[in-house]
Amino acid sequence: MAFLEIDRLVKRFGATEVLKGIDLSVEEGGFLVLVGPSGCGKSTLLSMIAGLDTISDGEVRINGRRVNELHPSQRDIAMVFQSYALYPNMTVAENIAFGLEMRGVPKAEREVAVAKVAETLQMGHLLKRKPSQLSGGQRQRVAMGRALVRDPQVFLFDEPLSNLDAKLRVDMRTEIKRLHQRMGTTIVYVTHDQIEAMTLATKIAVLKDGVLQQFGTPAEVYNNPVNVFVADFMGSPS
Ligand code: ADP
Ligand code: MG
Repeated sequence: MAFLEIDRLVKRFGATEVLKGIDLSVEEGGFLVLVGPSGCGKSTLLSMIAGLDTISDGEVRINGRRVNELHPSQRDIAMVFQSYALYPNMTVAENIAFGLEMRGVPKAEREVAVAKVAETLQMGHLLKRKPSQLSGGQRQRVAMGRALVRDPQVFLFDEPLSNLDAKLRVDMRTEIKRLHQRMGTTIVYVTHDQIEAMTLATKIAVLKDGVLQQFGTPAEVYNNPVNVFVADFMGSPS
C-alpha cells in the first residue's frame, strides 16, 4: 500500500468535469510533482488531496484512510500556496507559532518548535522582524516555516515559487530539495516549470485537461514520453 493513494478521482464543478478519473500513488517520503498547463486541474487535485473540497467520485487515501472521512483537525497535512498572507503585525516568530498557538500548544513547546524550524530554514536572524522588513524570498520562507512547524505527514505545495524572481527560484528549489532529504516528509508539489519538476521529483505526473497523461520517474517521463503532448511539455529531445 502506498502512503498516498488516489483512485479514479473525479471532480465536477456543475456539469464541467475538471478531473476525469485520476489514478496516482506516492510512497512514504516520496516527492510527487504535478505538472501541466494552466487550467489542467493541478490545484483542484491538490485541494482534493488536502480534503479542502468535496470529491465527486473515486477516492483519496492517506495512510489507508480516506481524506474526506477525516475531520480537518485529523488531517496531518500542510499546504503552501504561491500567494501567502503573513500576519503583518506579528513578528516572524509569531507568524510561525500562530498555528500551534491556535491548537493550544504551550508557549515553551512553541518556542522550541519555532527555533527548530528557524534552524532548518536558516532564518534564526529574522525571527524578530515584521513581514514588511523581509524580502520576497524571506517571506516565502516564513510561509514554509509556518507549514513546517506543524511537522505534517504530507506537505502540499501549489506553485510556491512562481512569484519569485529567477535567481531566488533556483535558491528556493535547492532549499526545498534539501528540506525533503532532511525531513523525509511525503510531498506533492504543483508547478508548471519543467526544470523544477525534473530536479525535485521522485515521480512526475503530467496532466492535460483533467486527464493523467503519464506518471513515472523524471527520467522515464523525459526520455520516454508517451505522447507528443508530454514530449513537448517536458522539452524532451526529439
Ligand atoms: P490549474 O491549477 O492546473 O491551473 P485548476 O485546478 O485551478 O487548474 O482549474 C482546473 C479547471 O477547473 C479550470 O478550468 C478552472 O476554471 C476550473 N475550476 C477550478 N475551480 C473551480 C470552481 N470553484 N468552480 C468552477 N470551476 C472551477
Ligand atoms: Mg493552479
